[in-house]
Amino acid sequence: PHAPVTVIGLGLMGQALAGAFLKAGHPTTVWNRTPAKAAPLVAAGARSAPTLGDALAASPLTIVCLTDYDAVYELLGANGVEPDPTTPIDTTLINLTSGSAGQAREAAEWAERRGARYLDGAIMAIPSGIGTAEAVILHSGPEQVFADHASTLGALGTITHLGADPGLASLYDVAGLAMMWSVLNAWLQGTALLAKAGVDAVTYAPFARQIAAGVADWLPGYAEQIDKGSFPAEVAALETDARAMEHLIEESEAMGVNAELPRLIKAMADRAIAAGHGGEQYPVLIEEFGKP
Ligand code: NDP
Repeated sequence: PHAPVTVIGLGLMGQALAGAFLKAGHPTTVWNRTPAKAAPLVAAGARSAPTLGDALAASPLTIVCLTDYDAVYELLGANGVEPDPTTPIDTTLINLTSGSAGQAREAAEWAERRGARYLDGAIMAIPSGIGTAEAVILHSGPEQVFADHASTLGALGTITHLGADPGLASLYDVAGLAMMWSVLNAWLQGTALLAKAGVDAVTYAPFARQIAAGVADWLPGYAEQIDKGSFPAEVAALETDARAMEHLIEESEAMGVNAELPRLIKAMADRAIAAGHGGEQYPVLIEEFGKP
């Protein structure tokens, strides 16, 4: 037997979430501010709740996926804007709306005051990926709430519970974005350089991919150095890296491509070297990244 679930918010993502629950066989209730967006889901077997209150009462588990946290409060009522702020919300709310860690923690407190069980979540996928293993969906909040609903949530993709702090899902989300953009920017830097020498992007891409994968393999060992706070130069000293950074800057300038990113990277390394870390290994830069 598949547990019933409600999905509130039927934008591009909410429709994909509701569609995945339906496909997995969960009795699915949907609600959206603009009711017309429920039509394709109703055609696929969903029940359209006549009112928001009905949607919240329909299932032990309610997924919320709106534009932002302001929309969540505007809709579900916070700060006394709803007609009756004392009405308890008797469901488990899982808020998959994107936001900051602070917003997630605030929403968890708000939900507790309203009598709801609450998990925050972050979706690291596009709508077409929802319902496949490639869709990574992060959750944080009380472990038991996650355990109670994991089998239903599993219909959405690869689900993970990160810990009791409701802000963790948002933090992992932005950490993932930092990784994504850094890898892409580094690749674009090299692609722009090589283009000046007549090398096509598709020719360079397999090489870039191999380097990125190789560097990714260093992370677990480097992470151990960071956790220990000890950075012996087993592979290379930071000063050696800094000299290579200088080459990247010079080459970029000589080839007439943007050198802002290489200069930024070198500036951080130079500060660490000035602080006496030139003989240590690259992850000693965590001290620069860990400052305001
Ligand atoms: P859409 O713009 O397609 O949908 C927004 C939804 O929010 C609609 O259902 C809209 O209702 C509703 N909404 C907005 N304001 C209010 C309000 N004040 N009261 C009630 N309902 C409101 O956005 P997405 O579905 O793409 O994104 C939703 C969330 O999912 C966002 O936080 C986004 O960051 C996140 N996300 C999206 C991804 C994507 O690829 N699309 C990827 C990862 C995360 P109405 O239809 O009536 O306008």
